Amino acid sequence: MQEVAYVSNNMSIPVAVSARHVHLTEHSIATLFGTGHVLRMHAPLNQPGQFAAEETVTLVGPKGSLAHVRIVGPPREEDQVEISRTDEIALGLDAPVRMSGELAHTPGICLVGPAGRLTLDHGVLLAQRHVHMSPAEAAELGLHDRQLVRVAAGSHERALIFDDVIVRVSPHYRLELHLDTDEGNAAGVSPGDRALLLPATGGSSGGLATTEGLSETSASRL
Ligand SMILES: [Zn+2]
Repeated sequence: MQEVAYVSNNMSIPVAVSARHVHLTEHSIATLFGTGHVLRMHAPLNQPGQFAAEETVTLVGPKGSLAHVRIVGPPREEDQVEISRTDEIALGLDAPVRMSGELAHTPGICLVGPAGRLTLDHGVLLAQRHVHMSPAEAAELGLHDRQLVRVAAGSHERALIFDDVIVRVSPHYRLELHLDTDEGNAAGVSPGDRALLLPATGGSSGGLATTEGLSETSASRL
């Protein structure tokens, strides 16, 4: 773990583990919860404006179902179902790893709410691990939108280095690493944990070209 110590003075990143959840359009909310239904806030999320809703749905796949799946508001332009690999096995689906919003060639699923059911012909994905940041935070870290970086996260006994973490920059974001439950559990991530941005080593097949800039930036910060 010498590498982790090497970057311990760099900016650390708050970690959030995203449980399975659903983003819905206004139209889908009406189908599942009734015409004119407005999502009620259960708890705000750290990304500005985003919230976990009181409302939940049941996901029904070819092999099984998952109840009490939280809706994340506000409503979106497209329906999107974000699950873990473990959830996929339970449901009997084989969805790809994708960035949020990249829904082409994703499998569909059936959603059941108190007022009806909805069959999506696409929209199920495993969220690509990603780190949100504002333009100012990206500038400070020397990173840009869609760059691939490496981070170390988790507990001492099970800490992992995650390759191919995609940087997402927007004025609507604040600095936060998002892992799914499989990733968070594998690394022993606890609430309140922080991850460390690592210099690129060139060891990642997918991220080699785009992480080179990070290596220079991180080196200059030490
Ligand atoms: Zn996210």
